[in-house]
Amino acid sequence: MLDPRDQAPGPFLAEARRLGADDLAVRRLLSAILGQGIHDPAAWGRSFQVPRRLSDAIGTLPRLRLDRVVTSPRDLFQKLRFLTGDDLALETVLIPLHRPGAASVCLSSQVGCAMGCTFCATARMTTRRNLAAWEIVDQWVQARDLARSQGRRVSGAVFMGMGEPFLNYDRVLAAAELLRCPYGAAVGAKSITISTVGLVPEIDRYTTEGHRFRLAISLGAATDAKRARLVPVAARTPVAQVMAAARRHALARRDRVMLAYVCIRDENVGEDDARALGELIGDTPVRLDLIDVTDPTGRFLPPAPDELKAFRDALTRHVGQPVVRRYSGGADIQAACGTLAGER
Ligand code: SF4
Repeated sequence: MLDPRDQAPGPFLAEARRLGADDLAVRRLLSAILGQGIHDPAAWGRSFQVPRRLSDAIGTLPRLRLDRVVTSPRDLFQKLRFLTGDDLALETVLIPLHRPGAASVCLSSQVGCAMGCTFCATARMTTRRNLAAWEIVDQWVQARDLARSQGRRVSGAVFMGMGEPFLNYDRVLAAAELLRCPYGAAVGAKSITISTVGLVPEIDRYTTEGHRFRLAISLGAATDAKRARLVPVAARTPVAQVMAAARRHALARRDRVMLAYVCIRDENVGEDDARALGELIGDTPVRLDLIDVTDPTGRFLPPAPDELKAFRDALTRHVGQPVVRRYSGGADIQAACGTLAGER
């Protein structure tokens, strides 16, 4: 029987072969589940010629239980709450894109998070564990099925939900590969983004291994002193080393690294912060994404409009790389960046 706690393409194929299946049968199975969203083992045999022994084994894998769906009346973001086999809650966000009918999915990679970012609800969760690759993929499959039922098409995935993806490196990469594989979900590699708060050894490993998914690095702030307040665990590594790893990645890929910057009123949006960002980034090919903080506790507030405008003007003077403002939707249903907490 396949072990649902540690599902990955390699072991998946190996186990399927042990069960007597060839690669073609496995591809048909992935096509049925990931491509078509058909979860009835009887239908796999009928329509996809998946061998009975294989479909029986895969069919016993426990799925995530979709417990609740909340839709934002403001911007139509949807938050899905799942329960794992060991009764832990995790959340996933279905994100409407600008193109009509298009959507992407924000995936969780862990229950809880050990990185302790002070503005993040996930950091305050008491239960923590890594999610299996299959549990990550199943979030995408069920969100995709929900979107289909609404006449929408999911074309991407972002690993920006609960948890630090690079603390669950192998399973996150296995899940991303499963989403990418052409006989499964067939999501384009460039439509999959993996985010980290700045784990340098894992960024370098990711660069060395040559993955084609997009990389996003969440900075928090441009100086070590401010990072120590906002992203304390990640700040144990000097921000200059994080940027050096980003530069190695950008140059190896010949592509811009996305730098996510959570904007917080009176905290990291002053002239000094813009200047520090400019000095830190230099000529490294990045795209700086500005995101308003969302903190339901009220401790951290987004910048006031004039404060944000002054910050953007300062960035224009100090940063010689593209700067964009990214919308963090679903704030009214606590589905925005930093608000996922799997509350029961
Ligand atoms: S912001 Fe991301 S890395 Fe930081 S605590 Fe929250 S989930 Fe973890």
